[in-house]
Amino acid sequence: MDFPTQLFLNGEWKDASNGATFDVVDPATGEVIAQVADATADDVRAMVEAAVAAQDEWAATPAVERAAIMHRAVRIFEDRIEELARLLSREQGKPLAQAVGEMQYGVGFIDWFAEEARRIHGSTIPATTRAKRIITIRQPLGVTACITPWNFPSLQILRKLGAALAAGCTMIVKPAELTPLSALEIARVFDDAGLPPGVLQVATSNDAPTVSAVFMADARVRGISFTGSTEVGKILMRGAADTMKRVSLELGGHAPFIVFADADMDLVVREAMAVKLRNMGQTCVSANRFFVHEDVAEEFGDRLATEFRKLIVGNPLDDGVDVGPLVEEAALVKVEAHVADALEHGARVVLGGSRVDTGADSRLFFEPTVILDADDSMLLAREETFGPVAPIFTFRDEDEVVRRANASDYGLAGYFFTRDLNRAIRVAERLEYGTVGLNDAQISAVQAPFGGVKQSGIGREGGPLGVDEYLDTKYLSVGGL
Ligand code: ADP
Repeated sequence: MDFPTQLFLNGEWKDASNGATFDVVDPATGEVIAQVADATADDVRAMVEAAVAAQDEWAATPAVERAAIMHRAVRIFEDRIEELARLLSREQGKPLAQAVGEMQYGVGFIDWFAEEARRIHGSTIPATTRAKRIITIRQPLGVTACITPWNFPSLQILRKLGAALAAGCTMIVKPAELTPLSALEIARVFDDAGLPPGVLQVATSNDAPTVSAVFMADARVRGISFTGSTEVGKILMRGAADTMKRVSLELGGHAPFIVFADADMDLVVREAMAVKLRNMGQTCVSANRFFVHEDVAEEFGDRLATEFRKLIVGNPLDDGVDVGPLVEEAALVKVEAHVADALEHGARVVLGGSRVDTGADSRLFFEPTVILDADDSMLLAREETFGPVAPIFTFRDEDEVVRRANASDYGLAGYFFTRDLNRAIRVAERLEYGTVGLNDAQISAVQAPFGGVKQSGIGREGGPLGVDEYLDTKYLSVGGL
């Protein structure tokens, strides 16, 4: 397959100005699949200049025309979805069916935001005197930049880009160094759809701080949208302070998954499977802590293990494979450390617990794992595992489990299962999470405001609130009437 590997700068494909490249590796095989341009600070500065030059015209382009380009991009994505999903799967490791799902979901954001572009409007507010009028106007923030992670190489960009384009903002994308290929394909699709030069640019790089420093230093970059670790989110928020950029941060999570004794166990097991093993557990909304009422914990553990046992671990491009490799060696080392620590502290492994030898060259495969008797002292309880491990903690009563579920600096997503209506309302209100699933752990929806509280971030992505991140509200006070 032929795919772009150069920078996408002001509508053109370019090598890095010093010719540097970095390798992209298929985590399933260890094979180098591409050498991608490694942008220099000068390249990124050139992108900022091009974005500034393109900004006013893009902002002035009528919403319907911006939407038409976005809809054209949607059609191109749809025509190429299998091929793009295959590339995504190769650079990132998720099974092909999940890669297709990621592409469809991501493209859904472009489609939804294209429609929302037509509905961005201000308001009139009754004034206090007859001689005045109060009008609000919604205007694009201006040039924006985004920095995205490797776990959803396409979705994470499309969700930000869709909102930015709908609002009339230009955007420079700095994709994750492990997965730059999907980002470049996105640029190609929008270029083919007729997006003007400079509106979308892609700075692939193996040196994120260098790219980010250019964004931070330039006051004309008005917004920065980031998805990734809380640690890096804090660095960016501090960096943005000097030029007072708008920050949108979608950071780490440590999702609780609470099962009350009255829950529908068939539904619970189905949802647990989906939210734990999607992307091999490498998502910020993956259930990390299964709090299960002590009367049903053994049953839940057995049933989950029975389902996990049916799954096929292997090369994500092979038919029937459910679980691919983790993204890199460091990810496996962390998962292994969490499992070893749990065992040392008295947990029981019901299923899994080790790497799997799939016969592939890469050794990055980990068995779907179920652990019983987890407790709050374990690493599993305190840190994101980011792997296919389901630790089960038991609890006795509602107050206790809400307190333990909230005992985290993170507050991205949380899930709970009960058939008691009053408890459902009480717990939903008390969980300190930006996104809560009630009898539901598949919370992805383009029209919903996804985001976190506490140290999981600032701002929302998706839906009308997602567009707000890219807009300023101007208050126009009219007098002398
Ligand atoms: P993850 O643990 O998901 O890799 P990171 O926060 O390390 O999360 O990475 C997410 C994105 O942030 C990637 O694109 C990465 O290159 C970028 N990144 C990492 N460190 C920095 C930094 N110091 N400044 C700006 N971006 C960074």
